[in-house]
Amino acid sequence: VKETLTTIKERDQKLAAFLTLNEQAALDQAAKLDQQGIDPANILAGIPLAIKDNIVTKNLRTTAASKILENFQPIYDATVMEKLAAQQAVTIGKTNLDEFAMGGSTENSAFQITKNAWDQTKVPGGSSGGSAAAVAGGEVLAALGSDTGGSIRQPAAFNGIVGVKPTYGRVSRYGLIAFASSLDQIGPFTRNVKDNALLLNAISGLDPHDSTSSNQKVPDFAAGLDGNIKNMKIAVPKEYLGEGIAEPVKAAIKQAISTFEKLGATVDEVSLPHSKYGVPVYYIIASSEASSNLQRFDGIRYGYRAQDVKNLEDVYVKSRSEAFGDEVKRRIMLGTFSLSAGTYDAFFKKAAQVRTLICQDFAKVFADYDLILGPTAPTTAFGIGEDIDDPITMYMNDILTIPVNLAGLPGMSLPAGFADGLPIGLQLIANRFAENTMYRAGYAFE
Ligand code: GLN
Repeated sequence: VKETLTTIKERDQKLAAFLTLNEQAALDQAAKLDQQGIDPANILAGIPLAIKDNIVTKNLRTTAASKILENFQPIYDATVMEKLAAQQAVTIGKTNLDEFAMGGSTENSAFQITKNAWDQTKVPGGSSGGSAAAVAGGEVLAALGSDTGGSIRQPAAFNGIVGVKPTYGRVSRYGLIAFASSLDQIGPFTRNVKDNALLLNAISGLDPHDSTSSNQKVPDFAAGLDGNIKNMKIAVPKEYLGEGIAEPVKAAIKQAISTFEKLGATVDEVSLPHSKYGVPVYYIIASSEASSNLQRFDGIRYGYRAQDVKNLEDVYVKSRSEAFGDEVKRRIMLGTFSLSAGTYDAFFKKAAQVRTLICQDFAKVFADYDLILGPTAPTTAFGIGEDIDDPITMYMNDILTIPVNLAGLPGMSLPAGFADGLPIGLQLIANRFAENTMYRAGYAFE
């Protein structure tokens, strides 16, 4: 823990991955573990982990990178935090993100801009950019993030590490500050596939506090990692290697395909014809859910409250106007519009219908295949400031990750080479609750 704190203080001057360090509490916990001893069954015992700052941590400031929660001290732990504590893991600090996890570059944080671990002029991706940079920069061994439309997989790709979004329902969302409740999942960032499987084991499972958590049995994700994927059937959607995907990314993915073939898997081309509607469908559904979820930040119960107010309406309007950033406001407006009586049928309802078509595309492929393979993102990490004034370009960056959330499937990004010194991410997508297949293939590949 001491060594980790020293490393973070040195490296974070460059990376700006952390918003809050849990310094004294982590040292105290480590001293206590030294005294009491650790349970050898607890594979995470004594290991310092970084936690995305939209996961609530008891008595440890949790901001969601928003001014509205700048001084928020939660009075309870998220379920994943309780599970990590039961494993005797140590929370070393809270990592930067796009405000309320809305973004793909971590530039929407109200507090600081995190840098890519490989090139500090580039974004780390987002929204879990702080967690990804902290792991890739060697500050911590592993971290937790959240993924609503790609926020674990895309920063994992941009930083050359392993990131997993579990099946919707695999991990409890209790204590995850809600962005879009039908899409959000917490998941692990690590430097290799096996560590990732071990960390997912620790946080998975049914939770009475989250009615959308699943009662499906949690298998040992690290079991069966033996490198043998003979006869595994892999599908490559032609849309995932089409227009808009950078040439070096395509080349790296084609290289990965031949590696899988050499390992004994069969690889065929398939089609996900509705995936091209993923981005507009996602921005209607995610923004609608966000507009509802963010109503709780009203300047009354907790968080920022505006001064100089004349009446209740003023408290709401001024507090929210002053403390939400531009991207959050954009989405609240978009979501409120999509859910309005006059526009619901044309926007929210239509988007929900197209979401079903996207789910059916995947179901058809998984009737015949074990795994879907493609790139994680269309490009490698882009420059800081490059896309920030162009929301549409920023949104299109998630075209390959978003359909996976809409269908509730598990997805993994893992390193698959470099272009101009920047990492390229390979995405593996499995059927619902088939994370094991994804881990086996990832392990054989890396
Ligand atoms: N970049 C996407 C967005 O801005 C995804 C974010 C996420 O997964 N939290 O909504």
